Amino acid sequence: MIYFDNAATTSVNKQVLDAYYDLCLKYYGNASSNHAYGLESSRLLSYAREQILKLFGLEKTHQLVFTSGATEANNLAIKGVALAYKNRGKHLITTSIEHPSVLNAFKQLEEEFGFEVTYLPVNEDGVVRIEDLEKAMRNDTVLVSIMATNNETGSINDIKAIRKVIDNYPKCFFHSDTTQAITKLDIDYNLLDMFIASAHKVHGLKGSGMLIIKNNIKPLALLSGGGQENNLRSGTSDVPKDVVLAKTIRLALDNQKQSFNYVKKINDYLREELSKIEEVVINSPHDASPYILNFSLREHKASVIVEGLSLKGIMVSTISACSSKRNEKSHVLVAMDKDIRLASNPIRLSFDESNTLLEAQEFIKVLKELLAITK
Ligand code: PMP
Repeated sequence: MIYFDNAATTSVNKQVLDAYYDLCLKYYGNASSNHAYGLESSRLLSYAREQILKLFGLEKTHQLVFTSGATEANNLAIKGVALAYKNRGKHLITTSIEHPSVLNAFKQLEEEFGFEVTYLPVNEDGVVRIEDLEKAMRNDTVLVSIMATNNETGSINDIKAIRKVIDNYPKCFFHSDTTQAITKLDIDYNLLDMFIASAHKVHGLKGSGMLIIKNNIKPLALLSGGGQENNLRSGTSDVPKDVVLAKTIRLALDNQKQSFNYVKKINDYLREELSKIEEVVINSPHDASPYILNFSLREHKASVIVEGLSLKGIMVSTISACSSKRNEKSHVLVAMDKDIRLASNPIRLSFDESNTLLEAQEFIKVLKELLAITK
């Protein structure tokens, strides 16, 4: 199998899985129990929390909430902060290219809780224009949420420039969905009030993630209960899972530079070869994350080609795993002003360090064959 769908999910690292297995057997005590065995779990959990914050150099300024993934982390950041600080103002800003876990959280705040939301457009590269953000900011804006890297195209937003604008509004918090960027791209995390990760996107376990949040911010908890996670996310802690998240992040960060350079070579090769195919339009801008390469087909239905590739053992996505089953056009490509035909027929390739140039060559060969025989 050739697996080019790493933005949907990655394989689990065996070291992570082995550690998880051992931890499950050794530390099943409830971290909230007061006996010595429970306290051992609690100590492990605190250690993992500290380790992750240290890996990002944020142990003095930020706190960490373990979650079930990026969807929960986005929901806690967005709904939690908007609802907790609603008396400061009810205007929120996000972009039109966010993942559904962000867009639908904002939609709910708009429709059910009376917030006003500005959805920023993007330029033809899928990047937010700083002047559009400047124009949208108001004195009652309490939250700006702008993704670091887009999951369909890999387009990268300018976190530094966005922070500079938000700094003029001291009442406003800055959240970024960093799911596709964390441990992959260089980001100055100090510039963010809140950011997130989903373990399974970086060779960790499914159902595991985190929200990192500045110490002075107190979102409204979405899960009420026994007060775990500093009262921000109740429910018995999954200690082994949370502990191996620290390992997952450490391994990925250790490998970040090498992995980036490696996947870039594969991406560059594919970009060059794809651009020689007449009916291909490459949607990812040149300076996008090298982990993602998105292109559209002018004459073929992408879903037919993706199915054909799958039958030949090559796994790729059409839109994104979260939207592809619904047979929609890509809201991201529509926002980038691509015409409907192109926005309805994208193919997303996404890589990791286990992919090879040979696989990329095989992909191009099979794609050309499929384009020649299908209509
Ligand atoms: N944000 C982005 C940018 C993503 O790519 C994804 C995964 N498709 C998510 C959030 C949600 O992640 P999860 O399904 O792990 O909650």
